[in-house]
Amino acid sequence: MISTINFHWIVIGWIVIAVFAFMLLLKVSAPYGRHIAKGWGKMISNRLGWIIMELPALITCPVIFYLGNGEKYFLSYIFIGLWVVHYFNRVFIFPLRIRTKGKKMPLLIVFSAIFFNFVNGFICGYYLGFLSIDYSLWHSTPQFWLGIVLFITGMVINWQSDTILIHLRKPNETGYKIPKGRMFNYISCPNHFGEIIEWLGFAIMTWSLPTFSFAIWTFANLAPRAYKHHQWYQSTFEDYPKERKALLPFIW
Ligand code: NDP
Repeated sequence: MISTINFHWIVIGWIVIAVFAFMLLLKVSAPYGRHIAKGWGKMISNRLGWIIMELPALITCPVIFYLGNGEKYFLSYIFIGLWVVHYFNRVFIFPLRIRTKGKKMPLLIVFSAIFFNFVNGFICGYYLGFLSIDYSLWHSTPQFWLGIVLFITGMVINWQSDTILIHLRKPNETGYKIPKGRMFNYISCPNHFGEIIEWLGFAIMTWSLPTFSFAIWTFANLAPRAYKHHQWYQSTFEDYPKERKALLPFIW
């Protein structure tokens, strides 16, 4: 077992790395999806890549939680349940729905995502399973209710936006079109916006540095990706809506 102080230092170190990742990803687009490029080494099927790289998050967090010898409360199980619902979709439903025939992603992306998902799953599972945080009366706090509303809202936006994107293609198509409707009327990447809101909500409802570290990492990954997607849309489609922002409606 790691001492609480050491655990928090690990989390702080992980947050510092997120800041560097954010700066790097603003410069270099993560090479998958529309930003795929040659020179990133061996490739794997896109669909299989998604399943393999997201699986560690689905498994690690609940298993570490289960192994933890800390006191567990009803709400601790709710938090883990929400995590599992999100990652069950990401591992088993999302990859089977995407229209990605013949597309590939670099193994480098898969391995770095496995590491990322393992560390985040470990940190959140360890916090909830080992540290005996008293959540017995937590349901009467504003943080819990604000967090759960944000989490569910973010999840709905993320799922809805991914669904709109997936259905832009007919089953065997692989090209890109301008997405329209719902939050796409305001921003280019509502799926990324929804995911960021979701994990911000998770951090608020659990109210801890370890779960905030995951929200920070999600932002560090997805804000640069949304910005790159936005730039790509603007340079690819002449008729791309001028008023549409990248990630934050009316702002950025
Ligand atoms: P994208 O928006 O790039 O792609 C989502 C799917 O829709 C892909 O299958 C993509 O195809 C397709 N697609 C996207 N735009 C269009 C378009 N204009 N026309 C036709 N098809 C389109 O999402 P990401 O791949 O970045 O992420 C997928 C999910 O994973 C999102 O929900 C995201 O929030 C989540 N995620 C979470 C992370 C985290 O840190 N928590 C990190 C990364 C992703 P193609 O692949 O061919 O481009």
